[in-house]
Order: sequence, then structure tokens, then C-alpha cells
Amino acid sequence: LNRDVMNVELSGIRQFTYLVRDTPGACALTIGEPDLNTPDVIKEAAKAALDDNDTHYPPGNGYPYALEAISRFEAEAHGLRYAPSEIILTVGATEALFAAFSTILNAGDEVIIPTPAFGLYEALVQLQGGVPVSLPTEHNHFQIVPEELKAAITDKTKAIILTSPNNPTGCVYTKETLDAVHDILKDKPIFVLCDDVYRTLTYCEDYHSFAEYQDMRDRIIVINSFSKPYAMTGWRLGWCMADARLMDRIQVFHQYAVTSVPAFVQRACVRALETDTGDVVEIFRKRRDYVYQRLIDMGLTVEKPEGAFYMFVDIRKFGMDSNTFCTRMLKEGLVGVIPGIHFGTEGFMRLSYCYSDADLKEGLDRIETFIKSL
Ligand code: PMP
Repeated sequence: LNRDVMNVELSGIRQFTYLVRDTPGACALTIGEPDLNTPDVIKEAAKAALDDNDTHYPPGNGYPYALEAISRFEAEAHGLRYAPSEIILTVGATEALFAAFSTILNAGDEVIIPTPAFGLYEALVQLQGGVPVSLPTEHNHFQIVPEELKAAITDKTKAIILTSPNNPTGCVYTKETLDAVHDILKDKPIFVLCDDVYRTLTYCEDYHSFAEYQDMRDRIIVINSFSKPYAMTGWRLGWCMADARLMDRIQVFHQYAVTSVPAFVQRACVRALETDTGDVVEIFRKRRDYVYQRLIDMGLTVEKPEGAFYMFVDIRKFGMDSNTFCTRMLKEGLVGVIPGIHFGTEGFMRLSYCYSDADLKEGLDRIETFIKSL
């Protein structure tokens, strides 16, 4: 078998999620997807397309009307200007990331991953024979330290991935951080992957994506998804944007890997982009405030997230590694969260607040009881 495939394990996040699911009576705060259903108007659009027999091979990159809708949305909502020909619809952000790494990496190339990070990146880099290079941020409120980024760059560095808001911390990169990263990278032959899948779910006024530094346009790949803001995780739909020359190659990987995303869902994509997400953001903001306050009142240390729906809680004072802590909390306290090690950072746990107010209260009560018992 292929050496790279042999060296990569199934997702630790998923494995721990299954362990929690299979523990009778456990209250789960594990999952990274909204507990809401896809809005009816979005479902209706897909149903209408099915009734119209929109069931044949669509164009590989997506129907022109769908790519035009994304192009308009990115310009109006985010100020990012990409022509429809610089966009592809992908099988979730996951395929967009796979396509991006496959397009830019040769064996031995290094990719800088600020940690903690979503586990997918490390695996995708390794599957390309690349070398993930962790850039720890937990000592700096999860912001990249410019000097440390400089020190991590070698002549093998091919790319860096920036995720803002972040999974698992919910932190958003400040303009100051992004400016500093831009200063370091602007004259270097290094690609920047902007994983912006949570950008619609932000609770701060001042959000910036690295994609705004368009002087580096030829080295920037923007990744986004319908999964999180529109509660469409199971639809497996995302998009990828890059400068025409780069997209010309990314689409090759996309074509041979998946041909295209399904035909009839593309009208639903357009409907989703027209959907007001204000209510969803408000729901998560309220939960964020509640969960944050409860954790602080328990005497725990946590950075207040400015986006997404996770908290990355410091558990170093309990003197256990994150796996031991989370496994014990599951068995003894019947509450499930994900060990920080699965995001590349020891001494933390990730808690998701994609749950009802009642579930969040119950889960937090159990966490409180468990930590008091230690
Ligand atoms: N990027 C990040 C940061 C994520 O958290 C996730 C999903 N948890 C993805 C990408 C993949 O999303 P999708 O469902 O669009 O494949």
C-alpha cells in the first residue's frame, strides 16, 4: 500500500465523538455542526431542481449561474473579487482543501499549520507526502507570533494555512496579526490557504480574512463552505477560489477526483447565499456568552471566542494529558468533549456549543461536578 496512506490514521475527533455517542447516558458537547436544520427555502430549491430533472452531469466547476452567485456574494458580503471562472463548487471545504494541497505540494514540501488546528490539515498534507510543521499559538491568545512564524519558514516551506475563525478555539486573527503575517510572506514563494468556513459566524465587528491581501493574489487559495452557516453539513458543498492561473490547475484535480458536485443541489447553493444568517449568528452568540460565563465561574481559563461554535478550555492545572482528562470526564462525569491533542495541542479540551440551551446547561453542570471531584 501507499506509504503516506499507511502513515495516516482515521480522524481522532471522529473516533472520540463515536466513543461519546456509544457511552450510555453521556451528554455530548462534541459535534462541530449546527443543531439546526437546513432552512426550508434551501431544501425547496433542491426539490424543485429534482422535479425539473436536473439530474444529469453538470459542468465540472459548477453551473455558471451558481458560480456567478458565489462571485457576487463574495464581492458584496466579503469584498473579495473573483470571477466565476476563478471559482469551483467542491464537495465541502474538505474537497477544496484536498484539491488545494494536491495542486501545490510535492513530496517533502513543508506546510506551516498554526496550532491548535483542525486535524484534517495534517492528514491532507501527509497524504500528499508533505510535512506538516506545527506553529504553536496557545502562549499568545491563539494569535501567530510573527518572530516564530519567521523562524518556522525554511527553503522547503510551500504553504501556510490560516483558519479564522478557528476550529477549535473560535479565535479570529486580528488585523495586526494578519498585517504581520503579510509582511513576512509578501515576497516569499509561499502559498496561503484561507480556510474561511466559519467567517459568517463571527461575533466581532472587525473581521478580516487574509484573502484581502490581493497583492499576493497569485498565491492565495480561499476555501469556504455551505456546511456551517446554513446548517448544510450533510449536503457536502463548499467552494474554492483562486487566481485564474492557479485555478486552472486546481480544477484538474477536482475534475479527476469528483467530476463535479451533484447537479440538483446547485440551485440550493444559490438560495443559501441569499439567506439571512443574522438569527443563526445571534443564537450562537447567546450560547457563546452563556458557556463562556459558566466556564469562567468554574475557575477555568478560556479565550473568549469571536466566531464559530467552539471553546478551547485550558485543563493544564489538572495535571493530566487531554486524552486521560476527557476519557475520565466521559466515564466518571458522563459528559463528552474532544481532547485537545486531536488538534495538535496538549493540555486543552474542545467543547462545542452546537447544542440546545438545556443540553448546554446539563453538560456544563456535569463538567462542574466532575472538576470539583478532582
Ligand atoms: N475547515 C474547518 C476549519 C472545519 O472545521 C471543517 C469542518 N469541521 C471543514 C473545513 C470541513 O467542512 P466541510 O463540511 O465543508 O467539508
